[in-house]
Amino acid sequence: MFEFEQISESVPEGRPLIMAGPCSAESRAQTLAAAQSLAATGVRWFRAGLWKPRTKPSSFDGVGARGLPWLAEVQTRTGMKAMTEIASPAHLRAALNHGIRNFWLGARTVANPFAVQEIADEIRRLPKDITSSVTIFVKNPVNPDIDLWIGAVERLYSAGVRRLGAIHRGFSSYGEHIYRNPPEWRIPLELRHRLPDLPLICDPSHIAGRRERVPSVAQQALDLNFDGLFVEVHPEPDRALSDAPQQLTPDDFARMLRELAPRSRAGSDESLKVYRSEIDRIDDELIALLAKRMDVARDIGRLKLKENIPVWQSERYNELMSRRVDDAGRLGLRPEFIRKILSTIHEESVNSQIRLNEK
Ligand code: PEP
Ligand code: MN
Repeated sequence: MFEFEQISESVPEGRPLIMAGPCSAESRAQTLAAAQSLAATGVRWFRAGLWKPRTKPSSFDGVGARGLPWLAEVQTRTGMKAMTEIASPAHLRAALNHGIRNFWLGARTVANPFAVQEIADEIRRLPKDITSSVTIFVKNPVNPDIDLWIGAVERLYSAGVRRLGAIHRGFSSYGEHIYRNPPEWRIPLELRHRLPDLPLICDPSHIAGRRERVPSVAQQALDLNFDGLFVEVHPEPDRALSDAPQQLTPDDFARMLRELAPRSRAGSDESLKVYRSEIDRIDDELIALLAKRMDVARDIGRLKLKENIPVWQSERYNELMSRRVDDAGRLGLRPEFIRKILSTIHEESVNSQIRLNEK
């Protein structure tokens, strides 16, 4: 149904397509410094956000169109393809006027079909030679909705864009997690299954949220046969105006590229990896849930202390146990197994409440 054009023309067969650069272009000097160090590592695609969709209005929301000449300068000085995030027809027009032809749609934009359609309509109005030179990467929407993700690809395709790719950046979730945006690998793998010719890139920076975790997420993506990586790299990450905790220094980035093992070729191995990463994700969730449960248990403990209620209440314990054992049985879990787990969890909660008492 779809006929996508190759976008990996500059990448040797079997090598990942690498896109890297700062979360935001902050100044001309910072942008050029990032670009020059990346060009020296052999990177061909340079990312830098100008219009930043931020959660809170008080956050740095990008330099806007003021940074376009900096990206144009990166292209002429280093020969790299500069790319930036667009969220509206006005962004697209401004960037095209500065010779920028490579874009991504951010996770928040892709979650809004009106915004994507407006951009697609603007593209439809462009001269054909411009449309055919434009490359657009579509990030997954913040919510785990594969049809919304594919819908955005379809809208751009219908507007005439053929140089398309998808970027997996993980999905928003409530509460503390090991990842900033848990990867839910099954979703991008389903995308690959449905659109096998669409290049699939992983953004380990926005998944991990912390720089120490970026290489292991990148390796998982290569193990799952992703076509490339989209990584945040900043000359001085700790001073970055956005996403400081997840940006790598150019040296750490170069080391990561050297240490990443090439993708595995064995078919059966690959399916095993998909299941294992699913198990890893579930274990991450179990740990986050246990931490959340302990927080609530401590809040209850403080309340009991204030109201003079005893920590141990056997009717509550019996009720908790019997209802859960029944529920678990309906889901096929053995009663002994669930009793053992619940009593261990309950014991830890009671102990943490008793410790509050001792202070
Ligand atoms: C980004 O790549 O800087 C960005 C804003 O990402 P996302 O849309 O994935 O949050
Ligand atoms: Mn970012």
